[in-house]
Amino acid sequence: MPDSVESTDIRLNQQVAALDAFVRFTEVVGSSTGPFELAREAINVLDTRFHDASVAYYELENGLWKAKVYSDNIPAELLAIVTAGLPSDLPVIAEVLRTREPSFIDGWKPEQGGVEHSEVYGATALYPLIVSGEVRALLSAGLKFSRRWSQRDKAVLRAVGKSLTLALERAATSERLVAQNAELEARTRALEAFASLTRDLSQANNLQTLVRIAQDVVLSMLPEGYAVFFELHGDTWRLTVQSGDLRNPALQAAVDAGLPYASAGNLITPWTTRQAFYQDEYDTKTDNLEDLVAHVGTTATLPVLVGGVPVGVFAVALFDTRRWAPIDRAVLETVVRNLGIAAEGVKGAEQLLERTREVERWRQRYEVAVRGSGHLLYDWDPATDVIVYGGAAESITGYTTEELAGNLQDWTERLVHPEDRAAFLREVARVVETGDAFRLEFRLVRKDGSVRDVEDEGYFMRDDQEQVTRLVGLVKDVTERRQTLAALRRSNAELEQFAHIASHDLQAPIRAVTSFADVLARRYGAQVDERGQMYLRQIAENGEHMKRLLDDLLTYSRVTSEQRPFVQVNANLIFDAVVSRLAPETEALGAQVTREDLPTVLADAQQLDQLLQNLVSNALKYRREGVAPVVRLTARRDGMAWRFALRDNGIGIEHQYFERIFQMFQRLHGRGQFEGTGVGLAVCQKIVARHDGRLWVESSPGKGSTFLFTLPGA
Ligand code: ADP
Repeated sequence: MPDSVESTDIRLNQQVAALDAFVRFTEVVGSSTGPFELAREAINVLDTRFHDASVAYYELENGLWKAKVYSDNIPAELLAIVTAGLPSDLPVIAEVLRTREPSFIDGWKPEQGGVEHSEVYGATALYPLIVSGEVRALLSAGLKFSRRWSQRDKAVLRAVGKSLTLALERAATSERLVAQNAELEARTRALEAFASLTRDLSQANNLQTLVRIAQDVVLSMLPEGYAVFFELHGDTWRLTVQSGDLRNPALQAAVDAGLPYASAGNLITPWTTRQAFYQDEYDTKTDNLEDLVAHVGTTATLPVLVGGVPVGVFAVALFDTRRWAPIDRAVLETVVRNLGIAAEGVKGAEQLLERTREVERWRQRYEVAVRGSGHLLYDWDPATDVIVYGGAAESITGYTTEELAGNLQDWTERLVHPEDRAAFLREVARVVETGDAFRLEFRLVRKDGSVRDVEDEGYFMRDDQEQVTRLVGLVKDVTERRQTLAALRRSNAELEQFAHIASHDLQAPIRAVTSFADVLARRYGAQVDERGQMYLRQIAENGEHMKRLLDDLLTYSRVTSEQRPFVQVNANLIFDAVVSRLAPETEALGAQVTREDLPTVLADAQQLDQLLQNLVSNALKYRREGVAPVVRLTARRDGMAWRFALRDNGIGIEHQYFERIFQMFQRLHGRGQFEGTGVGLAVCQKIVARHDGRLWVESSPGKGSTFLFTLPGA
């Protein structure tokens, strides 16, 4: 039966062709990313499979679904309509867009479907191609000789539709990757600009040049715009450095003339808050410049801080609107911070050098932070012995303490004391959890085997959502500093101990000398001549003085050896006790010793008593001849502390001795003039220092002195 053989043959050929087409389609799907090329192959597959079908691929363009790729058997009139575009509200299209499912229509009626010249088809289908959650394109198929979709044909159309969707999805992803790559390149450029920024900043020697360098760097990293720097002169913002064209002569004239302080919101905000201020969409009312700045899209204004004090506002304006991304902000803020640090340096050549190093350290920190991903990175600078480290958040957050211990093994193994290791890990776990800036101190072994004391300071960088993104830190070698400090402490302690022992042990022999001199004078006084009696008197007097010296020395050493804890002390009560103890002397001199209402302070009560006793006694002792002493104690708030002032109307002190009188055994007068040992004020100094305060004197000779000291408030 030749007929039947022939038809079997045809069917077989058709199936082979369809298989070929499928294979080709799979290959293209694997290698191409162009949507039309992919669609072309999908249509080939369907054409060969269905034989009597027309297939078309549509994309949305200007609100209409236009056939972009199609079979070549579509009637000319129909082709004209589908390439011109079908509206989204056409019933067949509307349904697919709504259900997002393919629709198969048996017994196609052109009038119902709303597509003219489509009467050649008995059955039609429309398949939505959904990419990234949106209907990106449509695939239509029309069967000429059938009026029904068989299950197999439906399955074929679904399979091809699905493959095409996946291929388009992949194409979209690769587009995104290209964009991401561009972003990455931009970041690299930003870093390069940074590297040169540091070098350039370190070479400039005045603020204007520094600002210009920073402006150039910033503009090179951002799309079109300009940068302006304002300094505040009286009530006016003066434009002192500009890079880029403002693109409006009237605006240029206005800023050249100076902006009134109160009207420029964009400048006041960073100046007063000391924080950067960003406007993604610049509100022209902010600076009351309205029409003049209608062409500005986006702004950023940052305070330039030198030693924590604002010296100007660094402003950037872009002509397009733009969302300030975290990386933009980080770049801007770092540039301007470096600018401030560098500006601080230009004040003096030595400082400049130190600051340059600091800027360099900042740059390293920043670079490490940006580079850091996955792992914690370390940079050891052998010259300064500074380690800069940093890493992405994922390398440190979200770990259990044990996991952290594993990650930080490099570190912990080098810590000398086992308890340091535990404490270090505990502290790391704590700061990771709280996100606080931190400061750790520990002792570690360097690779060369030497043991060093180090300080580790770090902080976390956060994004807009306050999420920790990076850790950056600095490890400093403080061994030398520590050693000097420890040596100083040791020698101080030794000295104190010596003073204590000496004053204690010398008391008995001195007492013996004075009492034997006394006995000698009483029993044998008559047997020695005039000269011998004078010697005896001098032995007694010197012995007395030595005893006083020892007493004072003992008092001095007791300031540290016999301390009591700080408590709340009402200074009124202490002062009154001192005054009543000195009453006999005060009355004899006709002196007035008074106070105003004094505060309660945090102090060692006995030491406060001693301090006031010494100062008031001095005020009475160093009085002017023929002038009754007038002494008054007052107190003023000084931040968290209180500043006391004891004023007298005595002989006063020359300016050149203001420091010396507080030193041990330093006196300005002979004992013939004023009795004393020169220890009293040294004791006072030590007491005040123990209270974290300061003691000093203000005086005009012949008029009087005021001794001032600070104590912590209660
Ligand atoms: P001393 O009174 O035993 O000499 P101090 O240490 O108390 O030792 O004082 C050191 C020196 O400071 C005194 O010798 C005196 O010259 C000067 N001095 C202290 N208090 C006053 C005062 N209120 N007015 C003038 N001079 C003073």
